[in-house]
Amino acid sequence: MKTCPNCYKDLPDDAEFCTYCGKPLSESKIKERKNEKVKLKKNTRKNNWAMLGLSLLLFGLVVFDFVLPTIIDAFGGNTVFPFYISLIMYIISIICGCLSLYIDRKDKKAGYEPNGNKSYAYVCIFVSLFIALVNLTQVILK
Ligand SMILES: [Zn+2]
Repeated sequence: MKTCPNCYKDLPDDAEFCTYCGKPLSESKIKERKNEKVKLKKNTRKNNWAMLGLSLLLFGLVVFDFVLPTIIDAFGGNTVFPFYISLIMYIISIICGCLSLYIDRKDKKAGYEPNGNKSYAYVCIFVSLFIALVNLTQVILK
């Protein structure tokens, strides 16, 4: 037998909630209840850094990695130059992704719901990093 700490009624040993007053009895259940109560406040500040980073990533990939090199190549020019521009765009995209995650974390700590897009932020960081490294090896090999 155990006793409810709230209403002092006798309860079976395996009870997780008091059948009389409904209060949770085990530590983990009490914590669970507390966590549910911590609701995040509405966040009015916008966090579009991940979107910006993703746009830069796509723009850099299409324009400076495919379209421009193809045109320059057709005229017999040096295609390394657009690769450097796209490299800079990828680095900015990575920074945007990190910034988005950082702002989200700061908002959450302050009790606001995060407004950034987490999956976009991860795409910015990892896809940009990957393509940037592929580009770098291309530039080095040339
Ligand atoms: Zn009770």
